[in-house]
Amino acid sequence: MHRRFSTPRCLSLIVACSVAGAAPRAAEPGTGDGPRWERVSVRDPAGDRILEGAVVVEGGDGGVLLERADQRYELMQPETIATRESVPAPPVETPRDLGRRILADLPAGFDLHLTHHYVICFDTSREYAKWAGAVFERLHDAFVSFWKRAGLDVAEPDRPLVVVIFADRRAYDEAVRRDVGAGSDRVSGYYSFLTNRVTTYDLTAADGLRPPGRGSGRLAAEILARPEAAGLVATVVHEATHQMAFNCGMHRRLAPVPLWVCEGVATCFETPDLRSQTGWRGIGSLNTPRLERFRHTYQAGDLERIVADDARFRDAETAVDAYAIGWALTWFLMETRRDAFVKYLAMLGSKVPCTQYGRDARLADFTTAFGSPAELERAFLRHMDRVERRVP
Ligand SMILES: [Zn+2]
Repeated sequence: MHRRFSTPRCLSLIVACSVAGAAPRAAEPGTGDGPRWERVSVRDPAGDRILEGAVVVEGGDGGVLLERADQRYELMQPETIATRESVPAPPVETPRDLGRRILADLPAGFDLHLTHHYVICFDTSREYAKWAGAVFERLHDAFVSFWKRAGLDVAEPDRPLVVVIFADRRAYDEAVRRDVGAGSDRVSGYYSFLTNRVTTYDLTAADGLRPPGRGSGRLAAEILARPEAAGLVATVVHEATHQMAFNCGMHRRLAPVPLWVCEGVATCFETPDLRSQTGWRGIGSLNTPRLERFRHTYQAGDLERIVADDARFRDAETAVDAYAIGWALTWFLMETRRDAFVKYLAMLGSKVPCTQYGRDARLADFTTAFGSPAELERAFLRHMDRVERRVP
């Protein structure tokens, strides 16, 4: 079970930002309270089209990052832009209207399940969508209350969060190829910075979980509380945590957040206790599979390596080990330097999308927050030795 639990890495990481290179800057606000809306006519190999959306950033050379009404980002290079004009922002959509807009782009057969904070588009059983909606809502509340208590200025997302659930693995794999242009590589869900959605499939349809001839129906909760489902569920919760982090003000989509921070936060939340009706082990409990991986693979200097750049997260050979270090470092900082970590998160939350954040700047910001990585490493390893002794 532990091997399955800790294997996946995020498909989210595949998406890289490439808006106009020259000094992108945050968009000026519109005339009202919200962001400025524009209508942009685009000419590129895909044909001529007109796109409308809120301006997120503008490149120094005329490139634009737009957020469309369905929360999807569109990156436009200057050479593809024919005209741009300001337009009034459309009225805020109801969650149901947003859901209908998204359904129109999905294959036939999808339906909507709305919860307090989520728009869930599904083509499996409604019972499964309800089970998933309840898990997402619990994560939402646990995430917001945890970080508020820690002193981070998080806000409830000001619009619904979108989740797409396919009936089975095959349909999901096709969607992954369309969205990120890569195979899903056994990952059971992913969050995309570009669409702002979590996409997953009915996990009870995973190999060997559902008894033959049975639908996901009322069995969902029962099937997914089984130990062999833990890895699948953890992946979906991990991705839902990314979605929360990118929608509550902790990080900004396409901003240069170091991956050890992104993944450290997500791995601290990925171990829900689904047998409990009300509880969420969440960040209060040890992620023992990550801890085990950390114990067996950490080498002197790794802390500084993941702080300086994201190379180890992006290399399939080293990614899973890097996740374990990201988890351990986040855990250590939350337990021993919480105020400094919260301040550091707030600093990262102000980074502008599509800007650069090189090694020197990353190391300098980290050192300002916590001291030099080399010195911190001694305290880090001592603390993680003590953490290991807590494992029964
Ligand atoms: Zn992740």
